[in-house]
Amino acid sequence: MRHELPKLPYALDALEPHIDRRTMTFHYGKHHAGYVESLNKALEKAGSAAHWPIEDLCRKNGKVPAKSRTAVRRTAGQHLNHSLFWTLMGPNQGGEPRGPVADVIKRSFENFASFKAKFREAATGLFGSGWVWLARTPRGKFEILPLPDEENPLMHGLHAVLVLDVWEHAYYLQYQHRRPDYIDAWWNVVNWDEVNKRV
Ligand code: MN
Repeated sequence: MRHELPKLPYALDALEPHIDRRTMTFHYGKHHAGYVESLNKALEKAGSAAHWPIEDLCRKNGKVPAKSRTAVRRTAGQHLNHSLFWTLMGPNQGGEPRGPVADVIKRSFENFASFKAKFREAATGLFGSGWVWLARTPRGKFEILPLPDEENPLMHGLHAVLVLDVWEHAYYLQYQHRRPDYIDAWWNVVNWDEVNKRV
C-alpha cells in the first residue's frame, strides 16, 4: 500500500497570522511530503510491513525487518505525527477548551492556565527536535509527554490526544529562534472539536 500526503483541511494561509503561509507551504508541502516519499521508499524493502496501516508501523515497529526498521520508524512516525497535527488545527479556533477535553484538563491539570503552562514548559524544554503530546495511558490517565524526533505515544503503548510540532522547521521561517512565541500563538489555532474526537 502506498502512503499519501493527506489533503490539508484548510488553505495554506488559513492559520495566519499565527502560522503563516510560507511556513505551511514548506512544512506541509515539502517536509511532510518528503517524509511520505521516504516512507514509501523505505517500505520497498520491508516485506509484509509494506501493507501495514501507518498506526501499526509505529506500534509494531520492532517487527519490521531489521534492515529497514529505523528508516520506517522515522518516516512513519513523522507521517503519522504531521497528519494528526494538521487535523488538530484550524482557522477561527483556539480559545477555551470545551466538551470532554475541558473536563480532562480540569481533572488532570486543575485548569486551562496551568495546563498551558505545563505544556509550554515541556515544549520549551525539549532539546532539539521533537513533539509535545497530550497522551492517554491504557489506565485512562492523561499526561503531557515531550518526545524526541519522530517518536509518538503509539510507540509507547499510549493514545495520542493533542500534539504540537516543535521541530525548528515548524516555526523557524516565521519565528526564528523564538520557539516560546510560536507555542503561545499555536493555542489560537487549536481545534478543540477535533481534539474531543480523540479524548
Ligand atoms: Mn514538522
